[in-house]
Amino acid sequence: MRYISTRGRAPVLSFEEAMLTGLARDGGLYLPEQIPQLRHAEIAALEGVPYEAAAFRIMRPFLGESFDEGVFQEIIARAYAGFKHPARAPLKQLGDGHFLLELFHGPTLAFKDFAMQLIGQMFETSLKRSGRRVCIVGATSGDTGSAAIEAFRGLDAVDVFILYPHGRVSEVQRRQMTTPVESNVHALALDGDFDDCQARVKDMFNDFEFRDAVGLAGVNSINWARVLAQVVYYFTAAVSLGAPHRKVSFTVPTGNFGDVFAGYVAKRMGLPIDRLVVATNQNDILHRCLTTAQYRPDGVIPSISPSMDIQVSSNFERALFYAYGEDARAVAQLMDELKTGGFAVSQGAAEALRESFDSGRCDEDQTRATIARLSETTGELLCPHTAVGVHVAEEHLVQGTPMITLATAHPAKFPDAVEAASGRHPPLPPAMSDLYERSERQHRVRNDLGAIEELIRERARI
Ligand SMILES: *Cc1c(COP(=O)(O)O)cnc(C)c1O
Repeated sequence: MRYISTRGRAPVLSFEEAMLTGLARDGGLYLPEQIPQLRHAEIAALEGVPYEAAAFRIMRPFLGESFDEGVFQEIIARAYAGFKHPARAPLKQLGDGHFLLELFHGPTLAFKDFAMQLIGQMFETSLKRSGRRVCIVGATSGDTGSAAIEAFRGLDAVDVFILYPHGRVSEVQRRQMTTPVESNVHALALDGDFDDCQARVKDMFNDFEFRDAVGLAGVNSINWARVLAQVVYYFTAAVSLGAPHRKVSFTVPTGNFGDVFAGYVAKRMGLPIDRLVVATNQNDILHRCLTTAQYRPDGVIPSISPSMDIQVSSNFERALFYAYGEDARAVAQLMDELKTGGFAVSQGAAEALRESFDSGRCDEDQTRATIARLSETTGELLCPHTAVGVHVAEEHLVQGTPMITLATAHPAKFPDAVEAASGRHPPLPPAMSDLYERSERQHRVRNDLGAIEELIRERARI
């Protein structure tokens, strides 16, 4: 299995190399040269299988020679051992034909743990084998950073630097990043918004001298291995509701388009997904693009669902690659246009996108109202991101096709917003109940590439 860049001008890599690299050297994102297919009978056979075993069968065809089967099975077992629910990703019925896929039973209470715990184990195995070291640099709107720090803390061969927008993450998110005591993890509060954090990370990857000097590796959702890990729960959820014998739809609270793109991969592998509904908050560039075919970022407005406060949605590039018939030159050109304000999606590509994706938007009042209503009518406390999903999903329910909304975080990760909307305080799970007593280590950084690079050179154990 070989991996190619969406922009067509980077080295072709193995799974392991693509995982360790993150962003391609031409600025593009890695994708498998072909997407493996699972046959109807193979999908049907996933029914009733433990999550780990399903994960192995679904991901194995993407790995090529990168990990032996036995090694990969151990990696998966270790990755999900810390999850607090035996099903890992349990489904819960919310209403008539509407289900919640709970993805928040991992160590940092958001779906990011599914991918990050797995790639933590894969990095560890790979680096031990090669004797290499890497310096992981990531940008976060809150959840990726805490998941990455949790997954990589204390590993010998890895230093982790996470840029988050100062003052724009929830206190629980911040504390999950600033309280780990291991000296290889560094949470950096950047003066700017998430798009600034992400832009500086991309700048570092495009600074080849720096990139090679510190051994930069990326674990943002642009990392293919993360997308792959997220493909698994689309299969397990769909199969438990009757796939492949019937179709199901998913609604996905979306920011960087990684999670919903994993659903698209599942569909291309053969899972009978009817609709993939992209749910955005008031930062609705993806909803606008899917409805008007214009992709024009216009500044982030902070919301109560901060992990979706994004205007430059990196993984959308992967969807564009397929919508343009795998034409890397067309994608490279769009990404050039993006540097000067935005681009128009061609009519053919817009139609291709609409074959798989629907979209909707949920503003702040609607988010709060959804949290309040679901608390009253079902007793279910939703995190604000999940509430965005539920609101948009309700607009897309179709009789006879189950709708599965991804519950992307635990409500206790956003206690203030949830309590303000519902009047109920969501308690932290027991494993994290002392989070507010732990002491924090914070570093403020200016939104300045040179200053950030200097700090990383000083602190990384190169
Ligand atoms: C990251 C995140 C999202 C958005 O996921 P993307 O893959 O970036 O689209 C939604 N909800 C929560 C809670 C998140 O942490």
